[in-house]
Amino acid sequence: MKSNDLRKIRKALKKTLDVKRFEHTVGVEYTAAALAMRYGGDIKNAQLAGLLHDCAKCLSNDKLLSLCEKHNISINEIERKNPFLLHAKVGSFFAMEEYKVYEADVINAILNHTTGRPGMSLLEKIIFIADYIEPGRKHAPNLKEIRETAFIDLDKALLMILKDTLEYLKDSGAECDPMTEKTYLYYFEESRQ
Ligand code: FE
Ligand code: FE
Repeated sequence: MKSNDLRKIRKALKKTLDVKRFEHTVGVEYTAAALAMRYGGDIKNAQLAGLLHDCAKCLSNDKLLSLCEKHNISINEIERKNPFLLHAKVGSFFAMEEYKVYEADVINAILNHTTGRPGMSLLEKIIFIADYIEPGRKHAPNLKEIRETAFIDLDKALLMILKDTLEYLKDSGAECDPMTEKTYLYYFEESRQ
């Protein structure tokens, strides 16, 4: 991976994403890089995964569904009803097909960035957290505390985000992917050991 690859990908994304999503994307890229510095992760992979995590976010629901059908990407019941959730699966597919990125850890970080999963790698945690705390985010509760915690105790920040996300989904009556709950319980148990 050469540094001009990052530049090329950034340039391509600027064309396919809307302004707001592009700003968010660059925010996640730099926040992920900073977290990788803090925790001794691969900085380039953090930048790559940060850049590409929402590369399929600006597609319509119909387009996401048809792409999944065309490329045999599985669609669960919740995704069928909330197709925007598919941007993670389609995004990891695009990362390989369109952007020629094949590092398994990067692909997994894109794939799991909306729900997390039990047993995440360092990079997966970094992208999940950077997505939530990047500077452009304004509205999440406890954001100040979570931002501070992210640079002190990564797993603690992860748990705070999962907890707030579940609460938010419950309060708003939105449907929750069971994986988010599963991830929360896994890290809750882990935090008690
Ligand atoms: Fe996303
Ligand atoms: Fe995002």
